[in-house]
Amino acid sequence: MKIQPIRGTHDLFGNEIKKYNQIKEEVNSIANNFNFSELQTPIFESSNLFFKPLGEQSDVVLKEMYTFVDRGGDSLTLRPEYTTPMIRAAIFNNLLNILPCKVFGVGPMFRRERPQKGRYRQFNQINFENFGTENPFADVEIILLAKNLLSNLLPKIDIKLQINTLGDRSTLKKFKKELTNFFNKNSQLLSKESKNKIFTNPLRILDSKNEDDKKLILQAPVIKEFINSKAVDHYDSVKNSLNNLNIEYIEQNSLVRGLDYYCHTVFEFKTSSLGSQDTLIGGGRYDGLIKTLGGKDLPGVGWAGGIERIAMLMDDVKLNTSSIHFAILDEKFKDHALVAYNLLSKNNFSVYWNFKYNLKKSLSTANSAQAMYLVIIGEDEFNKKKFTVKNLKSSEQTLEDIDNIISLLK
Ligand code: AMP
Repeated sequence: MKIQPIRGTHDLFGNEIKKYNQIKEEVNSIANNFNFSELQTPIFESSNLFFKPLGEQSDVVLKEMYTFVDRGGDSLTLRPEYTTPMIRAAIFNNLLNILPCKVFGVGPMFRRERPQKGRYRQFNQINFENFGTENPFADVEIILLAKNLLSNLLPKIDIKLQINTLGDRSTLKKFKKELTNFFNKNSQLLSKESKNKIFTNPLRILDSKNEDDKKLILQAPVIKEFINSKAVDHYDSVKNSLNNLNIEYIEQNSLVRGLDYYCHTVFEFKTSSLGSQDTLIGGGRYDGLIKTLGGKDLPGVGWAGGIERIAMLMDDVKLNTSSIHFAILDEKFKDHALVAYNLLSKNNFSVYWNFKYNLKKSLSTANSAQAMYLVIIGEDEFNKKKFTVKNLKSSEQTLEDIDNIISLLK
């Protein structure tokens, strides 16, 4: 019996791993351009790290975390998101002594969600975080970074940027209260799922996909009626900069983000090419979160993007056509062949042998892999201590000694 992978997990190989690596390369390069340093954290953390900041009532904590007690009796959790571990690591390693602290990471997250296209239980996220500045420039920089990454990886895909402001923390608290009152008064018009959120997380009702909920939401209070002039100025500054950069965006009042810790600017990059799991990147400000986690009272802004969703929209990565195949005609010649095999691989050529002492089969493997050259090693080559190099496009072949091979193939 074949052992199945766990539901909602998947193996990465072939073209998929090539896409994954290409995304990682692009992330590294963009991080370098904007001066973000890599910060890798462990996959599991103490459960306390996640309970409070993610909102004890939010979906992620209540239903989706992989939490378990280890043999020492400690409660551990497979990380469901990256912002809180990044902050934990920044505080613990004194990275917040020099501000702003700009970090990024790539790696797996775990949520026990209902698996479907674009939604898995183990998935890979890209995370960018900027700790320590209130300046709206940081909001714009982080949006710009996301935009550049997506347009470099998905130049042909239509992606829309949606933004909103949630105001500062105290405004948000007031707003949540008003929402609770409003939804409580009209609870008979809400779906069952939204009813459960009236007292625990009324903001989340605003992004409900239920049609009845949507009708009621149109009449619900909007954050703009509550926010103070400082928050308006912050939001206006972000929008003005985006306008100056000609970055198109849609203002979306219902955009609130899933996790509890957001305030001020929130944003999402969405596409119509993926069905219901349509958010590629989501993020925003989380002033106050660093303090909640035991650090200084510092602001922060960041985003998370889903690698699998980006990969689903990418074209297949081109085959490596620069590979050099080998045809070794008899076992007697294998050590002579290995000299060239080793030298070429050391010089960054991609070498391949099909492990068969058979010219016809090696030629056929090379052709189907679209290899450029075939290095043939038979009796004559062995005796003369040389190698036959066949250009598979032109079919020309020459007998070369080892010193000539590299310059010929380059
Ligand atoms: P979130 O941390 O929920 O804001 O998610 C940020 C991004 O991670 C989303 O926009 C998705 O691209 C990706 N993502 C979140 N949850 C999943 C999942 N279960 N499976 C695959 N990708 C996900």
